[in-house]
Formats: sequence, structure tokens, C-alpha cells
Amino acid sequence: MEFVMLSAVRKGAEGFGERNEYHMVLQLRQIFEIEGQKLNFDEQIPLSELENSPLHEAFAAPLHIKGCVYNRAGVVALEYTVSALLDQECDRCLKAFQREYDVEASHTVVKELAAADADDENGSEYDDYIVCPENTLDMNELAVTDLLMEMPSKILCKEDCKGLCMSCGKDLNDGACDCQN
Ligand SMILES: [Zn+2]
Ligand SMILES: [Zn+2]
Repeated sequence: MEFVMLSAVRKGAEGFGERNEYHMVLQLRQIFEIEGQKLNFDEQIPLSELENSPLHEAFAAPLHIKGCVYNRAGVVALEYTVSALLDQECDRCLKAFQREYDVEASHTVVKELAAADADDENGSEYDDYIVCPENTLDMNELAVTDLLMEMPSKILCKEDCKGLCMSCGKDLNDGACDCQN
């Protein structure tokens, strides 16, 4: 029994002329159909595949995705870690630095959301749901989305970064300036 469950497919990228993107796509048909089915993956998503994604200018290395998708008693779950190395700039002192992120994410994967469930007032309950009507799951897009969700709203080179002096622009991490005197 041989299944091709993980494949890179070529997608014409809309609005970018001749450029094409390669997407890491999980093929989920057998996973949906057969209880107990499990697919492990451990893949690199090259930078060339991420040119049209948010953050693309910040990626300093290929994204690494590692985890599994499995069917337990008819419920399909995806659990994985996305690891990324990003070029960042401190919001306070403007210093450039690189930081590694390891984001663990888990989702319930469904072919469709039941209408009654989707109307539930606790809509947030479904935030972790991924709907895959075509039995395919685009990991490029999901990995970047999950990464973005975990990014702090303020990027700091270190937690207690003192930032720049508003008057003279000196990096106060290197010592106080004379403005306060
Ligand atoms: Zn800083
Ligand atoms: Zn100053």
C-alpha cells in the first residue's frame, strides 16, 4: 500500500507575472478516510517558496516544519512545530539582530464545518479548525500564519532594551547621554 501524502505542487502565483511558487502540500484523503492513519513530516520550506508570503523579507533561513497529522477515532488532528530564523530590528533601539522562533501549533482538520456548529456563539472555539474541502493542506501558508500568531507585537533586541534617546539619538544601552542633565 503506497500513498503519496506529501508533495510539492506548483502554483501559478497570482499577480506576479511569470513567477511560480512551490507549495508544501499535505495530501489528506487517506487520513480523512482511515481511522488510525498517521503521517509524519519533517520538511524544509525553501526561501524561494516563500517570496509572496508575509514576513518573506525577514526569513534568514528555510522554514522547518516537523510534526504529524493523524486520524484518531475519526477526528483528524495536526500537531507540528514550525522553526524559523528571522532578521529583525529592535523597535526601541533599531539594532538589527537575528532570532530563532520555534512555534508549536495544533489544529483540528475537517473537510467542512457543520453549519450549526459554525453559528455557535463561541466562534472562537473554531479558531484552531482548518477546513480542507479538497483533502489538501497548504503547509506554506499555515506555517507562516502560525508563526505570525506567535510573534510578539513589539520586537525587542532584549527585554530590557533602553532604546534611543529621543533628543540626541544615542543608544542608551551603551550608557546615559547628557540630555537629562
Ligand atoms: Zn533594542
Ligand atoms: Zn540624549
